[in-house]
Amino acid sequence: MGSKAEASFSRKVAAEFLGTAALVVCGPGTAAATVVIARTSGVAFSMADLGVIALAFTMVIIAMLYTIGHISGCHINPAVTLALAVARKARWSEVPGYLVAQFLGAIAGAFAIWSILEQPGVDAGLGVLSYAPGHTVIAFCAELIGTFLLVLVVFGTTTDSRATPGWYGLAIPAIVFAVITVVGPVTGAALNPARYLGPMIAVAALGGKTPLWQQVPTYFTATFTAGLLAAATYAFLRGGKAGPAQVRTEPGRQPAQVTQQPWTQGTTMVDATVLRAWIRAASQAVDDNAHYLTHLDAVIGDADHGANMRRGFKAAVMTLDETAPATPRAVLDAAGQAIVSNLGGAAGTLYGTGFCQAAEALGHDATISVRQLGVALRAALAGIRELGAAAPGDKTIVDAWGPAVGAYEAVVDAGGDLVAATRAAAEAAEQGLRATAGMQARKGRASYIGARTIGHEDPGAASTTLILRALATTAAAGTATVGAGPTHLPGNGDYNA
Ligand code: ADP
Ligand code: MG
Repeated sequence: MGSKAEASFSRKVAAEFLGTAALVVCGPGTAAATVVIARTSGVAFSMADLGVIALAFTMVIIAMLYTIGHISGCHINPAVTLALAVARKARWSEVPGYLVAQFLGAIAGAFAIWSILEQPGVDAGLGVLSYAPGHTVIAFCAELIGTFLLVLVVFGTTTDSRATPGWYGLAIPAIVFAVITVVGPVTGAALNPARYLGPMIAVAALGGKTPLWQQVPTYFTATFTAGLLAAATYAFLRGGKAGPAQVRTEPGRQPAQVTQQPWTQGTTMVDATVLRAWIRAASQAVDDNAHYLTHLDAVIGDADHGANMRRGFKAAVMTLDETAPATPRAVLDAAGQAIVSNLGGAAGTLYGTGFCQAAEALGHDATISVRQLGVALRAALAGIRELGAAAPGDKTIVDAWGPAVGAYEAVVDAGGDLVAATRAAAEAAEQGLRATAGMQARKGRASYIGARTIGHEDPGAASTTLILRALATTAAAGTATVGAGPTHLPGNGDYNA
């Protein structure tokens, strides 16, 4: 994520059009060029030729992944788009536009081959594919297996937060190369309905050799089915419950400012900018709810939690602005120290220690994975529990932060992304907050009034809910829109700052 904005739908569609066109120009284009060369030199087609064609596909896919991956996800393949949508990794509403763009892009790419190679290119078939008539079952199996492997790699490398970040750009083109060299001799290795159909339409329009239209159903059913099989297979390999990794835009919110990772929605990496945005959003939320936090603390404590939180998080934001720490670890550490020294009360030491412990749990990398952020959140919980000695049910911060960490981890284990994981954490924190109403305080100042705390929500659990909600907002909305929406807790009604 970061401050980059999600592209509008028209830009995504334009990116898919260009990406698929580039794929066809370079892949089938190289195939056609190989035939042109073979015809003039009279040399027989060999694995060397096939290898170079496969390499052209490999290279253009690498290039396009890093050119439009952050705009459209760089599906450039209808079988991939459909599989991602079925797995809820792409929005259904965008599927028709993506497919139209991919098919039109492939047709345009095929005409571009003609503009490069001219009539000899058309005579060479513009990279049109076919299999030996009658060998339908073998052709179906070849395309099915080849496309299955491609889409499986797409899912494993781009839809699972446990995957090594960034390496989809090697893995996806690599499997395409390896599949083409084995499936190529049988079907030409379409692996992609758009790449398959585009050259056929262009060749037919340009008066070349009539394509074998009767083979279209074989290629289409094999590639689309393979995508669905791969999606199902990866759902099994991933384990856990169905991955809730899809971004849902909250009603009434600005369209999410989420930078896309290739192939999937949402964010897989967290950097210093994201965490600074989080602390800023938390400070804003605490500010908006300061009177309410103080009200909660007035009922069962000493009416200073709102002022404490406001002071502590303002200090954290100031420190971060002044020192501009460059790593997640440095951000959390600086925030933690500022909170310890400025927030005051029991919560100051507890939250401050929590943030410092979260920092300790991280290395010095510039970015951390969604999973590592979960490790940091758990370390914060451990720090708070060690210092405050509060158990779940004692009506403290622990009763919101604890369920939140569990929910976060569950979503990550199920393959969910940052947006889904932080949303689950915020929701679990809020449920935890609600549950504190039924508890009797056993720690801190509130424990002095014992059973009279029952029926009232815990101020610390409320501030934790605000902090983790700010994290979810930051993840879903990106840094640019944070603070734009209302942050009030439901009970806040009369206490708006
Ligand atoms: P103080 O209680 O010193 O006035 P605050 O009002 O800022 O500090 O914070 C009160 C909140 O701190 C409580 O609502 C509770 O959630 C949290 N808290 C207090 N003691 C503990 C503890 N031992 N462990 C975890 N959280 C605690
Ligand atoms: Mg207090």
